Amino acid sequence: MQNTARQTRENRTITVDFQEESAYFQLMDDGKAFVEFVLAFILALGFQLTHKATCRGGGCLTRHSHYARIRLGGLTIWRIQCTTCKAVFTVLPHFVLRYRKMRPDVARDALIATHGGLSLEWCAVIYHISPMALYRVICAFGQPSSVTVLTRCGLPLPTYILADEKHSRCLTERVYLPTIVRGRVIWHLGYSASKSAAAFTASYGAFQRVAHQEDPSYQVKGALTDGFDSTVSSRRVLFPGVRLGSCLRHALNKLPSKLIGLSAPVRQGLRSKFHSLLHRCRQRKSLRVVALGQRLRHFADHIATTVGEEHGERVRHWFQDKKAGWYAVLADPQMPAMSTVLDQAHNAIDRKLFAMKGFHHPRGSQAAFLTGLAHLYNLIPYQRRALNAGKCGVEVEDGRVPTSDWMFNLQILTSGGYQCAPEPPHH
Ligand SMILES: [Zn+2]
Repeated sequence: MQNTARQTRENRTITVDFQEESAYFQLMDDGKAFVEFVLAFILALGFQLTHKATCRGGGCLTRHSHYARIRLGGLTIWRIQCTTCKAVFTVLPHFVLRYRKMRPDVARDALIATHGGLSLEWCAVIYHISPMALYRVICAFGQPSSVTVLTRCGLPLPTYILADEKHSRCLTERVYLPTIVRGRVIWHLGYSASKSAAAFTASYGAFQRVAHQEDPSYQVKGALTDGFDSTVSSRRVLFPGVRLGSCLRHALNKLPSKLIGLSAPVRQGLRSKFHSLLHRCRQRKSLRVVALGQRLRHFADHIATTVGEEHGERVRHWFQDKKAGWYAVLADPQMPAMSTVLDQAHNAIDRKLFAMKGFHHPRGSQAAFLTGLAHLYNLIPYQRRALNAGKCGVEVEDGRVPTSDWMFNLQILTSGGYQCAPEPPHH
């Protein structure tokens, strides 16, 4: 796979909004005015620049910074150097994508069509670009991890998560997409050709590594999961001491299949009884686990006496298998109880992957491509008739995006040169 040894120098590209192309070309001739403009823009974003670790320059450039013009693919761009640490920042105007010939307005339309579920091939037909060019743009945006982008939006690392693998196909191969979701944002979307515990541990481990770089004391307290045994064991290896729960909605949907041979109305009746049982336990303020244990026993007895002992026995066995996961949900009020938002994220990603069939190609980078799709999922606002109309997932979760334009946010947040400014000290 590519992308491993390509970058030796740190990427300190920053994207700056000059509003009009003409404004950019006017500033081209006046270095001082150019640096002033860039400084004002960074200040307005509330970001800092990633200087070298040793720099005491205060995280920003000064008007005394050195600057030089270079030609890049027929366009003149500026490089600005910090006088203290000598870090060099490449300033990309808003109308250029890093290393791409494609213009951002073309990419914008193609990406939103991709996000809406149109295949790469159809996007390419409509916007006169090659499917491979679009694939590569998504991969390019997918270089920084979801953790990097989301923490730049001020979202705290998630202490309670939903985690599970989406089963998908790459050409004819079965593949798995290990996913971590918290609310409306995807924190990790990985790729694995195997469903072994080792493979899942490697994928979730990539998330954990970046998260630890952001905050060495980071710990997951609770995870809701409904996967294989290898899912559960990978979770235990990576997040020792984590509370592992199972989704209550899955439990509800599974019950009818334990009542083999009974008529549909009888199964439905028992399902709704089970529904109110779980609901009542969740409503309790204390001793929820004890309440659940008692109610499960009574419910299994009820099944045995009303529809037959063999059904009661089967349900009792199933409860025995599953109840630890349900107890975990009820034991901690902060634990998520249902994996609905994870299923929604999986469905959204699956629609895109299904639409493109072979997202696997020999020289491609599945990891970067999927991370690019995750950024789109997190940053493109919902349609105007949706529940959270006009907001993107990041905003729904109370994160901040730098501007009101999602494409521009994508450009800025995936730039290597920006970092989050530290919170102002509280007095
Ligand atoms: Zn510096």
